[in-house]
Amino acid sequence: MTDVATRPAMSGPRESDWSAAVAAVRELAPTGRVLLICHVNPDGDALGSMLGFALGLRRLEVPYVQATFSGEFEVPEPFAELPGLDLLVPEEQAYEDPDLVIVFDVAAESRLGGLVNRLSLARATIVLDHHASNTGFGGIRLVDSQAAATSVVAEELLARLDIPLDAEIAECLYVALATDTGSFRFEMTTPRVHEMAARLIATGIRPGEISRRIFDSRPFGAMKLFAEVLARAALDPTAAGGNGMVWTYATLDDLRRHGQRPYVMDALIDPVRTVAEADVAVLVKELGENEWAVSLRSKGAVDVSRVAMAMGGGGHRLAAGFTGQGTPGAVVVAVRELLDRFLI
Ligand code: 5GP
Ligand code: MN
Repeated sequence: MTDVATRPAMSGPRESDWSAAVAAVRELAPTGRVLLICHVNPDGDALGSMLGFALGLRRLEVPYVQATFSGEFEVPEPFAELPGLDLLVPEEQAYEDPDLVIVFDVAAESRLGGLVNRLSLARATIVLDHHASNTGFGGIRLVDSQAAATSVVAEELLARLDIPLDAEIAECLYVALATDTGSFRFEMTTPRVHEMAARLIATGIRPGEISRRIFDSRPFGAMKLFAEVLARAALDPTAAGGNGMVWTYATLDDLRRHGQRPYVMDALIDPVRTVAEADVAVLVKELGENEWAVSLRSKGAVDVSRVAMAMGGGGHRLAAGFTGQGTPGAVVVAVRELLDRFLI
């Protein structure tokens, strides 16, 4: 019998990188400035892992800590009550030449937007991530493609820094973990995930209340918007090697008519991917003139991260995305062609 426990990890950070990350934090000068950055259009894992770690640095009494992300300075409503938001600053106010930059949930430098220059301006950089498509940028690399969320990596670094979990840190990390596991439903929901959730809940956080806030609450207008976008969905049973594809799109005009902010569309892929007749779900969301954010999901027939990478994006095997140009129809034709190429 193969002893899995003693086999070296197939992926995951090297011990030397863990030690280097711990040293980079411990050896900060008393005036050392730390800039934490997560990806553009931040989701629960990006914000939660970043703010949870930022609160940890505060517990260590690191005096100069900022958290930020590139683009419009707007925190999606579901995350508007996260602890640690007082550490968040707009991109324009972020330290110009920080001593240490720590990056969260960023698979590629392009996802840092206008903050990408901080990687070269900082004295040291640590990258915490869990995307298999991570491009390998940054100095100290804590990238674990077997981790269900970046917050799994963040929790381990906090532990290695001897920073105990408290309810505020735990709430941030829990939001991150619950988001990226789809509320503990996705394939990556391993014993390790539930063990971490147990440690977080043991601090006294309220999972029911948190879940309602991040998954089960949205404005009336958003429900009407969802209804309209779902009503125009199309099913192509022959796509993806006969495993089927369902797709729809949402425009900025749809948002305007229903008085909604762009982030409400982040949850729209979830009802789309429930369609039983389709392995692959595609949601095309208008970002601006001729520009569309495309979300891809698979139930296992296609490695959609490869489709996304072929289109200049990235992600995970069963959940990925990219930015496309043209019309939604043209974007979907391009995706449809790639689906057959990356059947699992
Ligand atoms: P979502 O569809 O929820 O926006 O993203 C699903 C997954 O794909 C996430 O892991 C996200 O990081 C990744 N992803 C989405 N859009 C892009 C993109 O434009 N570039 C890259 N590299 N990854 C993306
Ligand atoms: Mn993530």
